[in-house]
Formats: sequence, C-alpha cells, structure tokens
Amino acid sequence: MHISADIVMDIDSIQKTERLQEKMSLLEIRKLTFCTGKKEILDDLSMTIEAGEVHALLGTNGTGKSTLAYLVMGCEGYVPTSGDMVFDGQRINDLTIYERAQLGITLAWQEPVRFEGISVRDYLTLQHKGSDASQYLEMVGLSPELYLGRMVDRCLSGGERKRIELASVLALHPRLAVLDEPDSGIDMLSTQDIINVITLFRQNGSSVLLITHREEIALIADKASQVCQGRIVCSGNPANVAEYYKSRKCLVCDGEVCTYV
Ligand code: ADP
Ligand code: MG
Repeated sequence: MHISADIVMDIDSIQKTERLQEKMSLLEIRKLTFCTGKKEILDDLSMTIEAGEVHALLGTNGTGKSTLAYLVMGCEGYVPTSGDMVFDGQRINDLTIYERAQLGITLAWQEPVRFEGISVRDYLTLQHKGSDASQYLEMVGLSPELYLGRMVDRCLSGGERKRIELASVLALHPRLAVLDEPDSGIDMLSTQDIINVITLFRQNGSSVLLITHREEIALIADKASQVCQGRIVCSGNPANVAEYYKSRKCLVCDGEVCTYV
C-alpha cells in the first residue's frame, strides 16, 4: 500500500504532540537564574512538578529556597534574570502575582500572614465569601470557636499565624501550593499536623512544593530535590535525597564551593 509523504508527516506530528502533552508537567522551571546586584542567588536551576505531586525541597539556609518560591509566585522584585517558568503549558515569567493566583498558584510565606486587621473568619473566606471557614481551622488543629472571631494581628503567636496561613491556602484549593517551611515556628509535637495538612492538599489534587528542613516531613513527599547554592544537586526518592542531604555531600560542587561543608 502506498502512503503519501504528507500523511506520514501528519502522523509524525500527531505523535509528537501526544508525546509533548504526555510529558507536560504542571510546573516546569527551566534554567532559572536570579541575580541581585552582583550576587547570583539562583544559578541555572531546573526542576519539574507534576500534577498532584508533592515535591519536597531541601537545602541549608541561604541556598535560595525562598527566592525560588517568590519567583514562582511572582512577588515584587522577583523577576528571573534568565530562564523560564512554565505553568500548565503557559510561560508565567511576566504574569503578575494576581494573574498567577488566578491560575491557581498560592504561596504560604516562611514569615506568615501578610494581612493585618481583619478577622480570621474574613481572612479564610477572602476568596470564597460565605464559605465555611471552620473546616479549614479544624484541618490545621485550631478550634473554630476560639479563633474564628479573633483578629489577624500581633496578638496571635507565630505558630497560630502559621497555622492560619496554612488554613487560608487550603481554603483556596490551589493547583500548586508553595509552602515555605510550614514547619518553622510550630512546635515539634505538631509535625503530624503538618503531615495531615499535606495529605489534605494531596486529597484535593493540589500539587505542593514543600520547602522544609525536617526529614520526617520530606519523607511524605512523592519526590524530593536538594538545592545547594542556587542549583538542584540531587533529585529523586525522598528517602535517598534526605539521606544525601544529611550526609552534606554535594554532587555538583563536591564540597569545593559549598560554604557549609
Ligand atoms: P533560603 O530560603 O534557602 O534560606 P533565601 O532564598 O532566603 O534562602 O536567600 C538566598 C540568598 O540570597 C541569601 O544569601 C539571601 O541573603 C540572599 N537574598 C535573598 N533575597 C535577596 C534580595 N532581594 N537581595 C539581596 N540578597 C538576597
Ligand atoms: Mg527561606
């Protein structure tokens, strides 16, 4: 049977498109570099997060984890020097923080709760007015009776603010939740609460970029990556990456330029 060259080409391009669609991750970070002044904070950093994946990001202080979170969210002053961020097939480098939020990207800050002077109830229902805020407080281990009527202000402890921040991210049902050290500022006994919250994100179908120092939290992720001096140096099974992180070796620089080794 004779098959014309045109048809062969079409089949080829359909297969290529199918392959691209199969391969498309929810978030693709491609060779991302971020410099402020002369300082290079992120250096050709590449990583992907699949739909529904919980991806832990490990790394010592000052290696660029929060910077990566701010770049993904599009916070003021955080524009990549080079590289691309692609969310669900769309390049988001030039989108505002609000446009990214509309796409379903949300960030829980390392230093929590940026809003002041509104009630906890209003804070948790900013996006969906009239929704039931109580369930989200219960999910983060806070009693609705005690907290719904309180104001988001300095009278809340660091741990309470952090929990309320997590509740607000849960309430948004994001497609991608970037959680910057959800464990910091919360007492050791509450690790299980955080693991429960991550499980809830997973059940909601959200992807999570989970920045953490705590091994037991990283271990519940589907995948983990270690960042060192603005680069991903190790990526894969969380147990292996956590082991590697603890041993403080660095695949790329092999200790030569690591200030912490
Ligand atoms: P991590 O979250 O991994 O602890 P950060 O991303 O907060 O690290 O910071 C990485 C490095 O970049 C640090 O040395 C920090 O001081 C520096 N840095 C972060 N943001 C800025 C900025 N806007 N201007 C100058 N230096 C910055
Ligand atoms: Mg940080």
